[in-house]
Formats: sequence, C-alpha cells, structure tokens
Amino acid sequence: MKTRLLLLTLSLLGLFACQNQFYSSEDFTKVEKIDAHFHIYTDYNSSVSQAMEDHFRLLAINTNSESCGAVGENHQIARSLKEVHPREIEFSATFCLDGWDEPGWAETTIRWLDSCIADGAVAVKVWKNIGMVYRDRDSNLVMIDDPRFDPVFSWLAGKKIPLVGHLGEPRNCWLPFEQMTTRNDSSYFSRHPEYHMFRHPEMPSYEEQLAARDRMLEKNPGLVFIGCHLASLEWSVDELAHWLDRFPNTAVDLAARMGQLFFQTRDDREKVRQFFISYQDRLLYGTDIIDSGSSKPENFRKRIHDTWTSDWRYLTTDETLTSPLINGEFRGLKLPKTVVDKIYSQNARKWYRAFP
Ligand SMILES: [Zn+2]
Repeated sequence: MKTRLLLLTLSLLGLFACQNQFYSSEDFTKVEKIDAHFHIYTDYNSSVSQAMEDHFRLLAINTNSESCGAVGENHQIARSLKEVHPREIEFSATFCLDGWDEPGWAETTIRWLDSCIADGAVAVKVWKNIGMVYRDRDSNLVMIDDPRFDPVFSWLAGKKIPLVGHLGEPRNCWLPFEQMTTRNDSSYFSRHPEYHMFRHPEMPSYEEQLAARDRMLEKNPGLVFIGCHLASLEWSVDELAHWLDRFPNTAVDLAARMGQLFFQTRDDREKVRQFFISYQDRLLYGTDIIDSGSSKPENFRKRIHDTWTSDWRYLTTDETLTSPLINGEFRGLKLPKTVVDKIYSQNARKWYRAFP
C-alpha cells in the first residue's frame, strides 16, 4: 500500500514537473517580456500603457527612413519618453548621411552618436536605404561595407555599442508577387513599388546586399551586430543557422518576419523548433510595430495586444493555428520555458546591455 502511494505521489510530481516546463496561453500577462524592435514616433503614444498592461518593455528604435530632421526629432521623442518611463523604455540612436561626400562626415557622425549615447541610447540602427537608396556625388549607391563607415563602426565596437541592422530586404522583395510566401510582404511591396527590387533589375541583387553586409562584419569582428528581421535570411532557418555560426558576435530579432516562420513551420515544424532550441541564445522577440500616434488609441492598443498574444501562442503552445500572413494551418512550437524566457527577455538584456 505504502509503495503504491509513493509511486502515485512520484508520478504526480513527475506530471507536475513536466507541465511546469512549458508556459500556457494564460501565462502571457504574468511573464516579463521585451519587444526588442518597436518604433515610437509621437509624443502622444498609447504603446507604453498597453505594454505595461501586458507586462512588456519596449526598445524604441530610431530609423533614418525620412530625413535628417526627423532623425533629430525622433531622438528627442525617445529621450523624453525614457525620462517619463525609465523602466519600460530603452531606445536606439541612428544617423543620417547628409554631408556624406564631405571629408568630416565620420567625425560629425561620431560626435552625434556620442551625444545620443550620453542621452541614454543603447544601440545604433542602420537601415536599408544604405544599399538601396542613398547615392554619393558620383551617383554610386552607398553600400554598408563602404570604407567611409569604418571609423564609425570601429568606434561603436570599441564602445561595445551594438549596431542594429535592417540591411537588404526579405528574399520575396526580388520575386514577383505570385511567388511571394507571405501576405505582409506582398502587401508592403504593392504599397512600396520603389522598394520592390523585382521591378528594379538594375539595382543590387539579394545576394549582393547580403554580401556587402557580411564583408562589413568580416572587417569588424569586434562589432556586436543585431540583424533585424532575421537578418534578411527569413526564408530559411538553415541559411540563418549557417550565418549565425559564421558570425558569432551577432544575434537576430524576429520582427515582422513571423509569417516566414509560420510558413516554414507549416512545412516542417520540427526543423523550426529545433532551430529555436539550438540558437536560443541568439534570438530576440520583436514586432516592428510603429506608433505614429495617428490611429485611435483603443484600436492601436488592440492591434498591439493581438499581435503580442498570437505570437505568444505560436511560441509557447502546440495549438493548431492560422494566420492572415500565410495560407494553411500550422502548429505552435511549444518551446520550453527556459528558451521562451531567453527569447522574450534575457537575450535582449544581454545583447543590448539594457533593461536592468
Ligand atoms: Zn523597424
């Protein structure tokens, strides 16, 4: 009788321990999380309130997507936001290319970045306009491995400030609409034909964009690099794994590429799950949500909350899911708690040396 009771207790304990290895949908609000790729470009944002409600902290990334003036204004917005919400907010700096052809560009840029870091910025962002838009005085596209960037990147490496890079685009960008794998890509490139590289064969290829990025990393092995959007290798976890092996000083965020992960999970869930487990120290959760203050606060808050909760279900449960981003059903990855905690907060803390 005693033995049976002991066995029953042991098996119940085992069951409990097993269940304890995983989170559930209900754990969403309880667990501390970081959205490591977020944009806030307004003083009247509703992001922080929703983040606090959902137990998120936000890395607000400044991006040079408009003008030098906007870079300065958005820096001031982030700086003030950090003052009001020191715990909830961290922010990145960025720089613009005005004066690129003048001899003092690198020195001026370093002075600007130094002042941003003194204001509290934890990283520096570079965007796809390097490689796709910006041309020097001889009309040559400025690529990210241009030697004129070298002093800036080696200065960042010396300061241990990470460079956050959205360089190149998803591979879908070089494909016709009917071959694109996710709906967010086809909708983005139909709204932005200027970035749909399939229509611009005179521009650098997908491979050339990534090769320039990789040459820059080879030149700067001491630079910490966070590849936004799965480092533009979103279409294949195998390719991404090779790249992470090749450049040990890098991590990637998942921002705006969940559809690509759903797509691969639909075809081979075990492979994607194994990728997450093998590279659990190199992956950062992020959404790329932009708060421009233009949506009604309640609608915007619902949109953020829905994105955060559906991503949580995909990463933590094994429910059968659908997404407006792709066709068909796929199963959640049900990653162990230890992996979820790294992807949702520990990795952002470690790689950005932020969110104490
Ligand atoms: Zn972004």
